[in-house]
Amino acid sequence: MRDLNDKKYQALRILSEPRDSKLVTHLNSCVHCGLCAESCIYYLATKDERFIPAKKVELISSIYRRYCTITGKYFPGLTNAQNLDEGIINEMVDQLFGACTLCGRCTKHCSIGVDITYLVRVGREMLSEMGLVPATLQSTVNAALETGNNMAIPTEELKDTLSWLEDELKDEVNDPNASIPLNVPDINILYTLNPREPKFFPLSISAMAKIFYAAKESWTLSTSMYDVTNYAYYTSNNEEAVIIAQRLYDEMKNLNAKRCVLAECGHGSRAFRWEAPNYLQRQFPFEVLTSVELLTEYISQGRLKLDKSKNEELITLHDPCNLVREGGIIDQQRYVLKNAASNFIEMTPNGTDNHCCGGGGGQLSMSEYNERRLKIAEIKAEQILKTGAKTVVSPCHNCIDQLIQIDNKFKLGVQIKTLSEIVADAIIIE
Ligand code: SF4
Ligand code: SF4
Repeated sequence: MRDLNDKKYQALRILSEPRDSKLVTHLNSCVHCGLCAESCIYYLATKDERFIPAKKVELISSIYRRYCTITGKYFPGLTNAQNLDEGIINEMVDQLFGACTLCGRCTKHCSIGVDITYLVRVGREMLSEMGLVPATLQSTVNAALETGNNMAIPTEELKDTLSWLEDELKDEVNDPNASIPLNVPDINILYTLNPREPKFFPLSISAMAKIFYAAKESWTLSTSMYDVTNYAYYTSNNEEAVIIAQRLYDEMKNLNAKRCVLAECGHGSRAFRWEAPNYLQRQFPFEVLTSVELLTEYISQGRLKLDKSKNEELITLHDPCNLVREGGIIDQQRYVLKNAASNFIEMTPNGTDNHCCGGGGGQLSMSEYNERRLKIAEIKAEQILKTGAKTVVSPCHNCIDQLIQIDNKFKLGVQIKTLSEIVADAIIIE
């Protein structure tokens, strides 16, 4: 076992031996204009100055100055350079894990383009190197590493759930041959799941199964590797993120599937669609797309017949940060909603300027920050209330979970649905 000093040394190497020039540039760029403050739901909801994004940057910059600059090494007081001691480490855990959803809104608004989210992830990587990831979040990663899914769902339990969902599908589409295919090789689509689906939201699996049935798709689920999430992205532990990404890559190769379709999960989509080729250092020989993009494709190609009068209530959309601000998937979910529902209203702000729901960045796993997570959620609750909508749609299971808790806490009286549920409700089976 390495002692703490050795771990601190390894953590400091992340700053002293940066992988690229970006780190030093962004650590040295903040001009303390304060414009990022109003971007952050933590600051907006609490007015606590500790939560201003620039203060989070300053935590890491001050350590950088102390150990990686001549002035900071010999005259730390002159540059407000700080030792990596217990006090600053505790503050880093509280600020970088407990008060940031990695939503990226501050980065978008920074007056000079400091990539604040990237710096928070660097700080998380330092804490990860020191073994100081909150145990609640790390246990989610450990479950994925040990069992293949972050909720440690036994395979038999998954198969039971899928079996009764398949029976329901047969009834719903009135076809005894309708199925939820498992582990079928040489197929067009390997579809993934967020483990929250078999555990808490099986209706979203039914919805996608109905959509695949109506689109006459050749698809399968895998019972050995279906988890779309990668919580090591949130702990910034690259070694563990690589192991998790490699498994889905291997299952795609094993089943010889042409397309990997990612379930409605913001960070899972980001981790496998955009980050995994970097983690695994290779181009993928298969296509990776989000289910939002797949639904767009089905509708635009006429593969689904929809009756939008089946969704008449007023619907609003919560944009998941990882899909929209980070992934650029903005218009697709609006296109789908406008084809599947007759009454749609935007919340304000929306799109790339939308506020985070408060559940990202691993917050839903870190129960020690529950009170804070639900406090900052008042921003989202207000946004929803102002629309007057009766249903809130979000193509992300993390957001869905947080939105359900927001609905309960603030007594909004709204339904929370995935995009696929809205589409499935509108499908006409011929
Ligand atoms: S990424 Fe989001 S939550 Fe984190 S500091 Fe920036 S605005 Fe706040
Ligand atoms: S907006 Fe950018 S430059 Fe201004 S205080 Fe925030 S991080 Fe620093």
